[in-house]
Amino acid sequence: MQKEVLVKTILNKAKKRDAWFLDDYRVNLYSSCSFNCLYCYIRGSKYGTNLENNLSIKINALELLDKQLSLRAKKGQYGFIVMSSATDPYLHIEKKYEHTREALKIIAKHKFPVHMITKSPLIERDFDLLHYINKNAHVPFDLKEKLKGVIISFSFSTLNDKVAEIFEPGAPRPKERLVGLKNAISEKFHSGVSMMPLLPFISDTKEHLDLLFSTFRSSGAKYMMPSTITLFGNEKADSKTLVLNAIRKHFPELENKYLNYFRYSNELPEFYRKAFYIKMKEMSATYGIKDRII
Ligand code: SF4
Repeated sequence: MQKEVLVKTILNKAKKRDAWFLDDYRVNLYSSCSFNCLYCYIRGSKYGTNLENNLSIKINALELLDKQLSLRAKKGQYGFIVMSSATDPYLHIEKKYEHTREALKIIAKHKFPVHMITKSPLIERDFDLLHYINKNAHVPFDLKEKLKGVIISFSFSTLNDKVAEIFEPGAPRPKERLVGLKNAISEKFHSGVSMMPLLPFISDTKEHLDLLFSTFRSSGAKYMMPSTITLFGNEKADSKTLVLNAIRKHFPELENKYLNYFRYSNELPEFYRKAFYIKMKEMSATYGIKDRII
């Protein structure tokens, strides 16, 4: 039996629209996430080492969403809703519960635009609703020239299925995501890639970056948004602990490098991050692909 949880609010208003994701609102219909990425920022003592064990459905989410969107719509406060920022809208249980599908029907009714962020090709099931939203949503005035009502970002930290199996054990493999991305593009949705995070010395090497850029460019992705990794905490359920354990086990030759960078810090050193973003700008220019949604 799936765990259930009651929530007080479901539509979270961002203080300021995020420059990367363009979200004015965030909706997370599930609590925790069975895709279980080791690097995930929601990790920590709240959910334990296996995020799936605490996965819950927010059972009053749809009723709340309807009420909250109705109020915002009456005031004309339209803006992109990101689904999702702290779980995935297309977890395996979504096949059975159709929680995201029902939420999209409510979003379509109130004519809000959406930015879907996922690691799953299950999103294809909802292309019918997304087409409706794409056509009918009220896009904020300042974005109207450049966007319709739907943005779809597929999330990748690598294109290597074996590496993904280590760091994203519960998620659909990159090969499957790539098929989903190509299908979203062929349906003419504004679609691209969030490469957040790339894994130092594993998926941010010159060789792997060339593979990422050439693969996504030839798939027709409109943008590729790259980011370095941030790792938190030293407890056993924390992302830093889990990633360092995985490095020790599967990439022992990288252990010292990771320890040097992360032992006393959550972030990669400034020189590394600077070089990373310069490199990403160069790669975007070389491959002719944007590093932002618009
Ligand atoms: S899919 Fe996203 S929310 Fe889920 S575990 Fe991975 S990074 Fe976290």
